[in-house]
Amino acid sequence: MWITNAPLADVAVVWARTEEGITGFAVPMQTPGVQANEIRHKLSLRASSTGEVVLDDVRLPASAQLPLARGLKAPLSCLTEARQGIAWGALGAARECLDTAIAGFQLTQAKLADMAVELQKGFLLALHVARLNDAGKVRPEQVSVAKLNNVRESLTIARQCRTILGANGISLEYPVLRHMNNLESVLTYEGTSEVHQLVIGQQLTGISAFS
Ligand SMILES: Cc1cc2nc3c(=O)[nH]c(=O)nc-3n(C[C@H](O)[C@H](O)[C@H](O)COP(=O)(O)OP(=O)(O)OC[C@H]3O[C@@H](n4cnc5c(N)ncnc54)[C@H](O)[C@@H]3O)c2cc1C
Repeated sequence: MWITNAPLADVAVVWARTEEGITGFAVPMQTPGVQANEIRHKLSLRASSTGEVVLDDVRLPASAQLPLARGLKAPLSCLTEARQGIAWGALGAARECLDTAIAGFQLTQAKLADMAVELQKGFLLALHVARLNDAGKVRPEQVSVAKLNNVRESLTIARQCRTILGANGISLEYPVLRHMNNLESVLTYEGTSEVHQLVIGQQLTGISAFS
């Protein structure tokens, strides 16, 4: 379920449990038994196509197996890369919200100050993680910190900017509520906030609460 671009894709990367453990497969969408159904009526990320991939008695040649991708580590390591992009992208949405909001009252300035502080902290965090990544030293729990914090704070910034704009904040004339709704999806995908909290909690305590 909830696979981005599934209705448009020519090939799907599917991870399946096999006798040799979790294995990756490149699955042409035209293969008999493969179907992609568009998920409609979304209130978030509406410009992005999302679908469910149905696999019903699908048969593939051995050449469809991804040769170097074995075990859960393969899909998870790809997520460690993708989540760093999320840590940056969420801040872009927050920055446009902040640029849209207007300063006037002192209370509004306090809101703007707090949002600017969180936005800059988020940039520094994403930059630090990116530099660790470039040096080949980044750890998944550090990416969890960046994804959890930056998406959560970006959503808070979008909500706060919505209040600054008053009723205009709910209009599509301004980008704020659109960013806010899109960030609700971002809070859930690439690891939900709760799952990233569990990853960080495991690192802090040495106790896994989810396996
Ligand atoms: C627009 C959009 C596009 C997407 N694109 C893709 C894609 O391209 N590829 C892809 O693979 N996925 C994609 N997803 C799916 C996304 O990764 C999942 O929705 C997400 O992982 C959450 O899974 P779920 O919806 O099954 O919720 P669930 O796993 O049922 O979670 C429901 C709630 O329970 C919490 N929860 C779950 N387990 C635990 C636990 N052990 N302890 C505490 N709390 C827990 C969750 O944090 C959440 O709050 C997309 C989602 C959206 C909205």
